[in-house]
Amino acid sequence: MTKQVDSASRLETKLFSPFTQIEGEGTSGWLIVCDHASNALPQGYGTLGLPQEQLERHIGYDIGAAGVTREVARLLGAPALMTNFSRLLIDANRGADDPTLIMRLSDGAVVPGNADFDEAERTKRVNRFYVPYHAAIDEVIDRAIGAGRPPAILSIHTFTENWRGTPRPWHATILWDKDPRLPVPMLEALRAEEGLVIGENVPYTGELKGDCLHRHGTQRGLAHALIEIRQDLVREEAGQLEWAQRLARIMEPLLQVPGAPAKLNAIEHHGSNTDVNGSEPAHL
Ligand SMILES: [Zn+2]
Repeated sequence: MTKQVDSASRLETKLFSPFTQIEGEGTSGWLIVCDHASNALPQGYGTLGLPQEQLERHIGYDIGAAGVTREVARLLGAPALMTNFSRLLIDANRGADDPTLIMRLSDGAVVPGNADFDEAERTKRVNRFYVPYHAAIDEVIDRAIGAGRPPAILSIHTFTENWRGTPRPWHATILWDKDPRLPVPMLEALRAEEGLVIGENVPYTGELKGDCLHRHGTQRGLAHALIEIRQDLVREEAGQLEWAQRLARIMEPLLQVPGAPAKLNAIEHHGSNTDVNGSEPAHL
């Protein structure tokens, strides 16, 4: 970024909120997060040098995920946090030191605006966009714990229906690492749904050290799962509402079975915070 662009962006980012927060009931027992909700870029960044149509693709954001998130949160009365910036600006689902935090290349597209960023620009994006989003998640979690109801966290993502010409068979998949409390009952419930092909830790690994759920779920001992929904199913609003209703219907009873809240919401470490090495970098 040139000096001129930098001062313009400083002014504009004051007006650009890095995240959208749905208040919900802090004691609902749930927190919904959506790390790739938006393909927006703050003023000063233009389109990162990409044609607008590239930003409309999955490389800019998770198509349909924001609509599902809003409706799941509404149905469960749960708080939710969603990014207001494109993952191409900075990826909220990466550790701050992850080499793919700011992508120079994404699914074959060179991102010109990311080609030659320096340490100062990296720090700026971390501080203005990434940190506030994660701080907001921490704050919601802290408040819920303070109110005596630690939340289980569901992270909502979507994946492309094709990858390099090969159709992907799953309607949805659950990604998880070592804590089975939320993923296992969610997988059971999804697999019991008529006509759905449900995957587990595909097409990406659920083991990504430093990602959003590692940070807020694993490291804080909170039950958590990441759902990936196939984009063709939630591209339109009707599909978003259908999937949100399905998820809310599945999730609601999980906190209601006798003994489950304590079990699902145990805040003590679950023994699942071991570092995971050797896993492939995920492109969630
Ligand atoms: Zn995603």
